[in-house]
Amino acid sequence: MDWGKIYKIKDSVDIYLVDETYIVAYFMNTRQKKKFRVSNGSVHIIEIIDGINNIENIYNTYCLKNGTISRKGFSTFFNCLLKSGLIIEKSQKHILSSSELKRFNRQINYFSEFLSSELAAEKAQKKLLNSVVAIWGCGAVGGNLAVQLAMAGVGTFILIDPDVVEESDCSRHVYFKQESVGDKKVESLADYIKSINPAIKTYISYQWLHPNADLSEILKKATFLIDAADEPYLGYTANLISQNCVPIKLPHYIAGGFDAHLASTGELIIPYITPCAGCYSTYFERVLSDWKPEHHPIKNREKEMGGLAAMSLFSSSFACIEIIKYICGLKDMKVAYKPRAEFLFNGMKLFNLTPSKDPNCKICGGADHEL
Ligand SMILES: [Zn+2]
Repeated sequence: MDWGKIYKIKDSVDIYLVDETYIVAYFMNTRQKKKFRVSNGSVHIIEIIDGINNIENIYNTYCLKNGTISRKGFSTFFNCLLKSGLIIEKSQKHILSSSELKRFNRQINYFSEFLSSELAAEKAQKKLLNSVVAIWGCGAVGGNLAVQLAMAGVGTFILIDPDVVEESDCSRHVYFKQESVGDKKVESLADYIKSINPAIKTYISYQWLHPNADLSEILKKATFLIDAADEPYLGYTANLISQNCVPIKLPHYIAGGFDAHLASTGELIIPYITPCAGCYSTYFERVLSDWKPEHHPIKNREKEMGGLAAMSLFSSSFACIEIIKYICGLKDMKVAYKPRAEFLFNGMKLFNLTPSKDPNCKICGGADHEL
């Protein structure tokens, strides 16, 4: 054990002593409750962990008041506290600037719930700040994702969308105001992001996602890509994005929440690890084979698909949480990723899809790949 380290009780943990024989800890961030049997001595150690004194000092303070105990016994108890998530190592140095610490203070506190030290939580925040997130399609879902990721601290955005703001967008997009109508969506969105945090870098493009679109410049710069483009349709754009991202191992997210997926959660794609858009296509071919006839007489709908701001926000929030977990390394998303789910408005339920990696997938199947 490094006796020079400083620990503190996690800010998000409430501890209660019950009948002088055990403590109950409530982990406010994860809603967990844990019970520990304790002695008077161990309660006293918990009381004097103050986030100021190092372990050596705490050991000496304890021995002075309670009589000497072995260093081995003391360090075993300390390691138990650490393993149970009650305490966290305090940062004695910072990798973030004071203004970054001030801005992201509560979020870093939240990250620390999943990590071993305050420094690790700062490093997680730094990963967001260093990220370059490209978002293809800046509508109700893509735009709201950009806004939430900007608030979370993503440092650079590449925003891609050829469309202009329409009146109906003002009822579904958080960042459009009446005065934005007629403006290019990416310009309005970039301005909104800058108003959240002027330190964020934004790059814009008006490029359509057509078959011959040249994605190379964007793929070179981006560390993460989000597909929220619904034209010509989601299945097409998703496959095109995965075809381009998987071979270069660029993680991406196929966002849901529009077209025929009004409130779907979308899916995180970690190349060669989680099912890619091609694997999803295989899955849909199988499960939807009886869903609708091959030909139907309606060629043109009178109106576009319906939409509701709250449902777009649901989709973008769900996606944002998954993306933050992945970029920050809060969970091992190679195993903890969530496949797409559809939120069902009537019953307020999530219907989970069950795709799996297709070994014969045209995009990610075939020979073994070095991960
Ligand atoms: Zn695949």
